Amino acid sequence: MTANHSFSFELGPPRTPEAAAKLPGVIERLAEVRPNFFSVTYGAGGSTQEGTYETIMSVVRNTGIEAAPHLTCVGSTRAHIAEVLKRYADAGVRRIVALRGDLPATAMSASAPGEFHYASDLVSFIRKEYGDAFRIEVAAYPEMHPQANKPGDDFEYFRLKVEAGADAALTQLFYNADAYFDFMERCEKAGIKIPVVPGIMPITGYANTMRFCSGCGADMPRWVRLRLEELQDDKPALHDFGLSVVTRLCQTLLRGGAPGLHFYTINQSGPTLRLWESLGLAAQK
Ligand SMILES: Cc1cc2nc3c(=O)[nH]c(=O)nc-3n(C[C@H](O)[C@H](O)[C@H](O)COP(=O)(O)OP(=O)(O)OC[C@H]3O[C@@H](n4cnc5c(N)ncnc54)[C@H](O)[C@@H]3O)c2cc1C
Repeated sequence: MTANHSFSFELGPPRTPEAAAKLPGVIERLAEVRPNFFSVTYGAGGSTQEGTYETIMSVVRNTGIEAAPHLTCVGSTRAHIAEVLKRYADAGVRRIVALRGDLPATAMSASAPGEFHYASDLVSFIRKEYGDAFRIEVAAYPEMHPQANKPGDDFEYFRLKVEAGADAALTQLFYNADAYFDFMERCEKAGIKIPVVPGIMPITGYANTMRFCSGCGADMPRWVRLRLEELQDDKPALHDFGLSVVTRLCQTLLRGGAPGLHFYTINQSGPTLRLWESLGLAAQK
């Protein structure tokens, strides 16, 4: 099941000294199953720029596994993005997750302020400046990006990112496999052939899971929400139930042709590794 699949783990730069002290152990445990790559998020407006760079370098140095920085273009300039890309290229990074980033809550339109308005502009810029030096991943939204007006328009904009030169896509988290399969049918009809890897968020609690879902517009099936709510004060039972829901989701996706899985680890090794084991996945390399 795993030879041609891509399994990746997403990390965030640590925000406190305690989190920074914990992260190397988390990376070490996650690296034991040899994912195809790690990715590291980038705070809105570049607020975690140094932390993203350091986390990328620490993954590469300590594990030898490929690491892909996320790069957002909201509010940035061509000169600044060029600087960040050069630093990564010089450090031997060969993969970038190219994003627009989140707009300030007060924004009135989907267009970002600054010299780049959409992720497709960033993808075009990377291709223009660096040719094929970077493998470029972009975001995909099977349940529609929350600021989009219509699914059809959102899909057309996804197509623009692919035409601008994206090699692959990682999806927003979702708990409804049909939304992914519908998205893949639309890709097929549109002649889009790049791999679209489902983004998987392990379930570790009721309140945080519902917060993640409402933050990105993901639909949580009613029966799962009700069961999580009921189990919220019984952590072991909630973890078991969450594991079985997400294991089934991943199995359905892989059996249905998903080219891999991208795990949102939220900088914890336990939930992702339990899922890995429950899926019977082997070490990758
Ligand atoms: C896998 C993954 C990783 C992420 N990592 C990060 C991270 O590290 N840091 C961070 O800050 N955020 C991250 N995000 C969140 C992401 O930045 C937000 O969802 C953001 O609001 C949109 O980014 P995008 O790259 O999808 O934007 P885009 O593809 O530019 O789309 C943004 C919106 O604009 C619309 N749109 C696109 N092109 C056009 C156009 N030409 N004309 C009109 N409308 C258009 C789209 O329909 C959509 O509503 C991540 C999301 C995912 C799925």
